[in-house]
Amino acid sequence: MSPAGPVVAIPPRQPVGGPGVIAIRDSGQVEGIGRAIMRWGTALGSTSRRPELPWRSTRDPWAVLVSEVMAQQTQVLRVVPAFGRFLAQFPTPAACASAPLGDVLRAWEGLGYNRRARNLHRSAVAIVTDHGGHVPGRLGDLLSLPGVGAYTARAVLAFAFGADVGVVDTNAGRVLSRAVAGRPIRAPEAQMLVDAMVPADGGWEFGQALLDLGASVCIAGEPRCHGCPIRRRCRWARAGRRGPDPSRGSAGVSTPQGVFGGSDRQGRGRLVDALRQEDVAPDQVASAAGWPDEPDRAARIVAGLIGDGLVARDHRGVLSLP
Ligand code: SF4
Repeated sequence: MSPAGPVVAIPPRQPVGGPGVIAIRDSGQVEGIGRAIMRWGTALGSTSRRPELPWRSTRDPWAVLVSEVMAQQTQVLRVVPAFGRFLAQFPTPAACASAPLGDVLRAWEGLGYNRRARNLHRSAVAIVTDHGGHVPGRLGDLLSLPGVGAYTARAVLAFAFGADVGVVDTNAGRVLSRAVAGRPIRAPEAQMLVDAMVPADGGWEFGQALLDLGASVCIAGEPRCHGCPIRRRCRWARAGRRGPDPSRGSAGVSTPQGVFGGSDRQGRGRLVDALRQEDVAPDQVASAAGWPDEPDRAARIVAGLIGDGLVARDHRGVLSLP
């Protein structure tokens, strides 16, 4: 296959992303990479995969949704204990929906980005109200849930319902841009590519293999090409990995976060952590946020947390979880 080979149009196998086709240079290359990733994942089996990810042993849509929301911005090793704890307390959408948000925020301890807990709680309410208490199995219904975006919705479809849809997270986006496109790609193109790669009836296995490949072989920074199952087909590797890394700026590939220490995000997290333990009186707010000498800054983040629905304030000015 020549890098300058004929352009062909590949319709997505499952047109979940809307109408349209994607122009890529060689459909055989795309499907060949998909098959090679699938073989590699199947050979890994359950024993050699990234270890002890408990959501891989369930097809319960609520559990899968919880795991995917938790893993959106948190390392999986921190998600593992929280996942079990959360599901023990909220085993169903109904159990979560009927609890106060404060209880859900307490169960979210250690995961950060507390808006995700609020969105998950709101999703549970919507699932009970609009879907009879069952996580919906249609893309449009999933996308309508608070905080559920393209990746999470498709992950639930593939990993809970076994649908033949592709998932593009930061790991998958890295593989797609480097190996398949050989250049940076945007979200619609990445979705079309990955949907074209999913083997029939292989949505779960392929999705897990692709995420594993990006997490353990085609890693950020220096990829481990010598042990890669698709190195002979990889566009970037075949080009001698010349030029900038194609994954930079590509769909799904996360960009570095700003410095956490000293940020407003850190203060918000500290205050919510304090509120997980007990209510906070007005004269303790600045200390609880970690800025005893910056009451105005603390007041600003309190206003933001109240606006986000994450904190309540009573008539005395005492803060609590809602
Ligand atoms: S050959 Fe290297 S760059 Fe290409 S997909 Fe494999 S690990 Fe990534």
